Amino acid sequence: MQYRELTEVYTDVAATSATTEKEILLADCFSRVHDETSLLPTVVRLVRGRVFARWEAAEIGVSTAGAASAINKATGVDSEQIETWWREEGDLGDAAAYAVDDRVQRTLTTTPLTVTRVYETLREVASYEGSGSQQKQIDEIAGLISDASPLTARYIVRTITGAMRLGVGEGIVRNSLARAFLDMSDDAADAVQRAIDLTNDVAVVAQRVAEQGRPGLDDVDLELFRPIKPMLAKQAESIQTAVDELAADLEAIGDTNNTESSPRKAVLVEFKYDGIRAKIHRNGDDIRVYTRRLSDVTTQFPDVVSAAREHIDAEQYIIEAELVGYDPQHDNDGPVTFQTLAQRIQRTEDIAATAESIPVTAHVFDLLALDGESLLEDELEMRLRRLNSIITTESVSQTELEPDPTIESTSSRSTLMTGTNNTESLSSLRRAQYNWVTTHTAATEFYDTALAAGHEGVMVKNPARPYQPGSRVGYQRKVKPMMEPLDLVVTRAKWSEGRKSDFLGRPYLACRTADDDFVEVGRMHTGFSDEQLATFTERVEPLIERVDGREAILTPTVVLEVEYEEIQTSSTYDSGYALRFPRLKQIRHDCDPSQADSLERVERLYEQQSVDES
Ligand code: AMP
Repeated sequence: MQYRELTEVYTDVAATSATTEKEILLADCFSRVHDETSLLPTVVRLVRGRVFARWEAAEIGVSTAGAASAINKATGVDSEQIETWWREEGDLGDAAAYAVDDRVQRTLTTTPLTVTRVYETLREVASYEGSGSQQKQIDEIAGLISDASPLTARYIVRTITGAMRLGVGEGIVRNSLARAFLDMSDDAADAVQRAIDLTNDVAVVAQRVAEQGRPGLDDVDLELFRPIKPMLAKQAESIQTAVDELAADLEAIGDTNNTESSPRKAVLVEFKYDGIRAKIHRNGDDIRVYTRRLSDVTTQFPDVVSAAREHIDAEQYIIEAELVGYDPQHDNDGPVTFQTLAQRIQRTEDIAATAESIPVTAHVFDLLALDGESLLEDELEMRLRRLNSIITTESVSQTELEPDPTIESTSSRSTLMTGTNNTESLSSLRRAQYNWVTTHTAATEFYDTALAAGHEGVMVKNPARPYQPGSRVGYQRKVKPMMEPLDLVVTRAKWSEGRKSDFLGRPYLACRTADDDFVEVGRMHTGFSDEQLATFTERVEPLIERVDGREAILTPTVVLEVEYEEIQTSSTYDSGYALRFPRLKQIRHDCDPSQADSLERVERLYEQQSVDES
């Protein structure tokens, strides 16, 4: 199949905003491809701009700068011109199309651009490593673009940059597969979705449904070493609403499984740990650790592998745990920051030393499979009962809440030998702390205990619900302290670097003083979409009073609504405070500086937060 034929379908799909029409076009394409070729799995991936399954956790790995160099190399159009088109269109794919249309150099012979060639080349490019690999990637991609038309070049580059702009999400692919090979019912779409959830590979699902129909989908089950997407939780406004909502959900489904450990209508509350979500798969001697994004991080966590081997009494399982780092020198200080813990993933050398300086506790909170049996359809309570029965470390579960101050201390932490170098490891594994609650008081008490121990908050879970991979279904709520957003005035901004160098961003944020002056409380480094950056630049450019290097000093006029993690005292800003991780919620076009939040409010929020923390 020629790649051109596929890109013509892309063009049609992109041209309509109607979901059903997109689905009809794709269903038709999928049927044709299946009838005429063996390329259905490839095409289904390509439509979503992918050349790998999600579980493969691999990426093409070519930067936009690399792709721009390849366009330059293939067409001879100079880099500045490519950059200008890119900036104007906001899409390097369009710039590639223009460059091919305008190309200075033409190859005498061209090799046909088939779907297989594009797909295989992009997969190969991803595998290049080491010195000279970047140049090799550019050469390979330039090779494709040399043989491309403007249309095919556009989509080759969009596939590389990961932005297909077709308006096709997983839901549309799911419905199109159902439409092409089953029918248009919700039941058919659900069956396809279930198979996608369990395989994490839409290519495998496409092949099965096309060849075997519905029975092919129903046969799909959870497999060891093929991680699935995690179940996600909705944010609750408060611990009370979380408990009320889940109690209502429990009631709605008619909880008849009333047992001693979970009295009727009790919901589960669990510490919410701030770490790395890990899935641990075991089959006999083979234990592997995957992240939430499904990357295999077994090598980086030999201590977790050992802890699992030591403390879980089963030969075959899939469990989920949050890995939380701590400082062995200051064990009682609570968990280390996420940034520190992230070093455990980033380091590919000195793994043993890093494991020693940042040991982790794996707080286990779910069991997805045990001894060859998938537990996804089982109620959470059943899954947890079986989980508790295979964890051999001392249990921290409580039917009556008894905060245990020693829970994170070395004395209660079991030590073990790491499998790799036989040095003693401080890492361990235990069941996430939990309780059953029926009242707001009990839930709040548990929540306070979690925060006091330095954890992020709590998860509230409906014990009667199954595991739903990948969706933010209502079976769980997360509760963590949230700061109220502030309306702040922009006093300074900086011209960006690189492709966005025409835009002003990274604004300094200020609050109002009692005498209507402005004092700064921080600076935003992230959170602008391209569109917001453009709007923001347009708003502040006329307000420039002075320019200092790349910095523009502005008349304080524009108000931004800003979210942030917390307020700290700081000597960096003239207010004496600094917002931690400020990010843009929205540009307040409707607000003038006199309505911005006051220093007094910042002070009050700071005080409140300190009380909450003490
Ligand atoms: P968030 O990332 O804020 O959406 O919160 C959900 C994340 O909390 C999950 O993906 C887990 O990584 C993490 N988490 C921490 N403790 C728990 C727990 N006890 N149960 C479920 N998830 C947890």
